[in-house]
Amino acid sequence: MDFNRRNKHNLRCSFCGRDKTEALILVAGIDAHICEVCVEQAQDIIDDELGKKQLSQGEFNLPESLAPKDIKTHLDKYIIGQDEAKKYLSVAVYNHYKRLAQNDEDDIEIEKSNVMLVGRTGTGKTLLAKTIAKFLNVPFAIVDATVFTEAGYVGEDVESILSRLLQVCDYNTDLAERGIVYIDEIDKIARKQDNPSITRDVSGEGVQQAMLKMLEGTEVHVPPQGGRKHPEQKLVKVNTSNILFICGGAFDGIEKIIAKRVNTHVIGFKGADKQEEEIDRENLLQYITQKDIKSFGLIPELIGRLPVLSYLEPLDMNALRRILTEPKNALLKQYKKLFQLENIELKFTDEAIHYVAEKAIEFNLGARGLRSICEAIMTDAMFELPSKKNVKVFVVDKEYAEAKLSKSKLTKLKAA
Ligand code: ADP
Repeated sequence: MDFNRRNKHNLRCSFCGRDKTEALILVAGIDAHICEVCVEQAQDIIDDELGKKQLSQGEFNLPESLAPKDIKTHLDKYIIGQDEAKKYLSVAVYNHYKRLAQNDEDDIEIEKSNVMLVGRTGTGKTLLAKTIAKFLNVPFAIVDATVFTEAGYVGEDVESILSRLLQVCDYNTDLAERGIVYIDEIDKIARKQDNPSITRDVSGEGVQQAMLKMLEGTEVHVPPQGGRKHPEQKLVKVNTSNILFICGGAFDGIEKIIAKRVNTHVIGFKGADKQEEEIDRENLLQYITQKDIKSFGLIPELIGRLPVLSYLEPLDMNALRRILTEPKNALLKQYKKLFQLENIELKFTDEAIHYVAEKAIEFNLGARGLRSICEAIMTDAMFELPSKKNVKVFVVDKEYAEAKLSKSKLTKLKAA
């Protein structure tokens, strides 16, 4: 007590010396004080040191008890359906990080388990990759394969795939080297089928070739800001051996290739067990093989470096309705929370939910459409209700949803 009083007028941070008047907060210890800036800096030092220690011990270990099933259970909380993709991804990720952790001297080298996910837009490919990275607390970056071109042409160098990853972990290469990269629209760099000539296929095969080494694991010189490499630029060296690459694409039209193959296959098996012939033509993606991807225009070398192949199912009415309400951060839960902060209870009738799902199917954007549809329906209410103090409950029924949506520009999507 005496001590405090004595120092009341000249309290200082014992670390940086800032005076009490200059600090926002001065935390008192037994015989010292610390200001908020030094607390933050100390936290950074702790994070850095602990992180480094973990990495230098080669210690990105999956938690002891974690099994692929646990990874899937976690994914189930955020992603509806897509059981097959979840299973494949959980195993791939588990094996990948097990591989990092093992430092046995024997000469059995576990190969990388990069993943290829095929499925229509808005079915959860990116969400799966993102959710896994977050769960494992490793850096995660999303890049779009369409911006890359072969060296020497206009566009970005393939190496800039890693620039994003470096950026998200503040250029800490140790961390980046254990991250996950999601490469979207991988199907867009397929070889053009109608152009097998000797003229260069700038956007296609050249880019695929350029990616090979990176996917497999090599030292890559990365332009830190992305884009094109240029001579004066200082490049950052990143080893990709332990980076997990997940590639995704819609592969529009691949069903036809699958159908063709499956048909021949069935003919080949004529007379065999009848069950083999029963093919679910509604969802041909489930029969996808590496061969189909090759026929689509990806080169075998690239396919070989993405050994885990899985597919995502198209989302039907039921899945879309569940996506609206069930996941941990489901859209409707988010709106409810927003309204709750205004002390308003928000309710959606089943018919309204059904209507939103129906519209999403109509717009053909997978679950991606749900958000814009909900925004169109909810914006007026979110604008007006916070200033109406007497509203305690707000119900969105089908009529309300329909009225709001028909007034919005979104309905034009239908025509597109
Ligand atoms: P894709 O990468 O397949 O094009 P995304 O993963 O980016 O699709 O999905 C877009 C959005 O739609 C996600 O952010 C998520 O909100 C929602 N979504 C898509 N599929 C699912 C799913 N199976 N379960 C839950 N939400 C989903």
